[in-house]
Amino acid sequence: MSLLAGKKALILGVANNKSIAYGIAEAFKREGCELALTYQNDVMEKRVYKCADQLGGVDLVLPCDVQNDDETKTLFATLKEKWGQVDILIHSIGFAPREALEGNFSEVTSREAFQTAHDISAYSFVSVCQHAQAAGVLHETSSALTLTYLGSERIIPNYNVMGLAKASLEASVRYLAGDLGQHGIRVNSISAGPIRTLAASGIKHFRKMLDYAQAFSPLNRNVTIEEVGNTAAFLCSDLASGITGQNIYVDAGFNVSGLPLRELT
Ligand code: NAD
Repeated sequence: MSLLAGKKALILGVANNKSIAYGIAEAFKREGCELALTYQNDVMEKRVYKCADQLGGVDLVLPCDVQNDDETKTLFATLKEKWGQVDILIHSIGFAPREALEGNFSEVTSREAFQTAHDISAYSFVSVCQHAQAAGVLHETSSALTLTYLGSERIIPNYNVMGLAKASLEASVRYLAGDLGQHGIRVNSISAGPIRTLAASGIKHFRKMLDYAQAFSPLNRNVTIEEVGNTAAFLCSDLASGITGQNIYVDAGFNVSGLPLRELT
């Protein structure tokens, strides 16, 4: 029996086949889940349709810029009409203006960059959960999952304002879990190690993050989108029915290390 057989998942955040959301979509598809993907704008639309093909086809491909409330509302109205219920909601979205992701945090963080990073990377998770609830698509065994990074808890050079936004996102996970738990809905996050994706390419010296992650990690390597996808499949399956409000690290153990375990290569 497949882990997610009979379930329907909405996945926000596929940009291309390197996206963490793509790794999640692949794992979900393998585990028997029906999928709906969203795209941010016209530029992304083509790419997401291409990913849908690479995945062997998905049920629905719909627009959703999370800064646009009307579009978010329409997304869930369409899901209500087509699917009735949504079992799994994946939020794999993050953005901060590039100029805020290089240099000293105290110098490069403008009010505008702060607001944009928090709006897209943190508030949007609250917003999609709100819209999903308002549309009545979530039910007593639904779950929601978002993606975060250790820069929320530790100082990571150049990650800057994204670290603050991720801290807010992780707090949102706990508060949402507190509210939605009364309806049986679970809310969790995965803290992934660094992975080379489109969003990651915006962070200055990202290559160094990969090298350090490898040298500090008990497993002596970086993680893949497949590994994040597999953990997401477990967390959103009925096997994880007792887990909510949690942040699960998929980072080859990096977060438990204090000093480098071996030489930097
Ligand atoms: P990605 O570039 O493949 O995905 C980011 C997605 O965010 C894209 O699909 C983009 O279209 C979407 N997005 C940005 N602004 C949006 C908006 N206004 N409306 C709708 N969608 C919007 O990169 P990724 O690394 O797969 O990022 C996915 C998530 O994983 C992000 O939250 C990121 O912070 C997190 N994460 C990434 C890493 C990493 O090293 N790559 C590590 C830990 C956590």
